[in-house]
Parts: sequence; structure tokens; C-alpha cells
Amino acid sequence: MRRLGARSFVRSGPAVPRVVRRAGASVVAVPGRYSVSYLLVGPDAVAVADVGSHDDLPGVQAALEALDGPPRAVRYLLPTHLHFDHVLGLDPLALRLGAPVALGRAAHAHVTRGERLRFPRGFATPGFWFTMSLGWAFQGLPFPSRDDLRASREFGSPRAKDAFRAQLGPVLTDGQPLPDLPGWTVLETPGHADDALCLYHAEAGFLVTGDTVRNYLGGEWNPLVADPHAYQATKERLRTLPVTAVFPGHGPVVEGRDLLQSIREVPFYLP
Ligand SMILES: [Zn+2]
Repeated sequence: MRRLGARSFVRSGPAVPRVVRRAGASVVAVPGRYSVSYLLVGPDAVAVADVGSHDDLPGVQAALEALDGPPRAVRYLLPTHLHFDHVLGLDPLALRLGAPVALGRAAHAHVTRGERLRFPRGFATPGFWFTMSLGWAFQGLPFPSRDDLRASREFGSPRAKDAFRAQLGPVLTDGQPLPDLPGWTVLETPGHADDALCLYHAEAGFLVTGDTVRNYLGGEWNPLVADPHAYQATKERLRTLPVTAVFPGHGPVVEGRDLLQSIREVPFYLP
């Protein structure tokens, strides 16, 4: 089993995209300012999951241009959940590429009907900020740019309306195949966020997790949760899947056999 430590990921030098391929699935991990963007590459289409910062646009576009094989259109971009560090660059990139934003059911209800999404419990308490700050340190303490600060009033914060200017694409529901990406399935995985999604490729054993699983400490469940009961059910469900590569929202790809059966719980006070 190969596990990369968080250290290897802290942005002390140029961030390098990484391609992982198996059983017809192909994923490019593009390290960003606050979180990792993933390109899911199909035979003739690409989907982009999470773009956390305006600063991430050049890196994601360069990774799209560097894809080998036939030219493929970006069919849609999708947020794994509507937290600022995963979405601040999503709308501008969608507009630039002329591609729609595909949302899960809960995110879609929030964006189109104003239904509230809960943030992790204890949000804005000293304990939460302590945990967030430590997590931030694991990211290399990125300071938000002016564009990101401005956008954070509209996207990814508790009072934000998340009103995308880009067109909205298909609504993603649990168990549905990801449009235009053979082999990939949408999983609704509430807990860390009410609208959290994971993307699963059964044949390859690939799971793109957003913040449902992180990798600051070698791969661990997220101690920051909006709904502990829902998160417990999500964990039990994910533990039944034979996952061999986790693509987390934060930290390097984790690879090994039966990863989710052995992944760690960490206490709240650890980042
Ligand atoms: Zn999050």
C-alpha cells in the first residue's frame, strides 16, 4: 500500500497534476489553492469536479489542454459540495469554458429555491476556527486573493445564495450514472455537508470524495460535520464499497486495498 503524507502536498513549490488510470477510468488531480480539482476523463467528454479559487483557473485549463488522446469537450463542472474552498473558481471557469454547472439535488434545491444548507456544526465557534486553522496550515496557509474574498460573499459561505451565472446543467441524483462518463455513478453522501456528493467508478474502485474523506493525515474521515447521523450512515454505506483509490478534496490521492474499511477517525481538535 502506498500512502503519501500530507507534507508532500503542501504547496512549497509548483503544484503538479497527477493522472491515475485504471479499468477504463482516468482521473487527473490538479492541486489548487485551497482544495484539489479533479478532471474525470471519459472517451469523448470531461467533467471538472471542484474549482476552489480564481487562482486555480490557469492550472485546471493547462491540465485540460495537456490531456492526451482525442480532443474532448468539458461537458459540465460540478461541485462536490457548496463550500467556498471548493467552489470559488467554479462559476468563472464554467463561464470561460461555456460549460454548465451540474448540481446534486440538495445543492440544486438551495440554488434554485433557496433551501438552506447547514454548515459543519460549531461553525464560527473558537473550536471550529482552531480546527479550520490547523487544516489551513496543512494547505500551506494560502491567503485568499481579492477575487476570492469578493466571490466568497456570493458563493460557498453560510449566507451565500450560490447563484451561478453559468447555466445550470443536469441535476445529479443518487445512483445515477454521471452523464457522458461511462462507469461513473453519483452518490449522495450527506454528513460533512447536506449537499455532499461522491463520484464512484465501481470497476476501477475510484472514489472522488470532496470533503467526505480528506487526506491531511494519511486519509481520514472528516471530523467537521453538519449532520452526524447522516454522516454515520454515509460512512457505513461507503465502507461497503471496494475502493482502491480515494481522490480527496484536500491532500494527495490515497491508494490501497479496501481503503474505506481501514480509514481513520480523527478527533475534532485535529485538523
Ligand atoms: Zn467542505
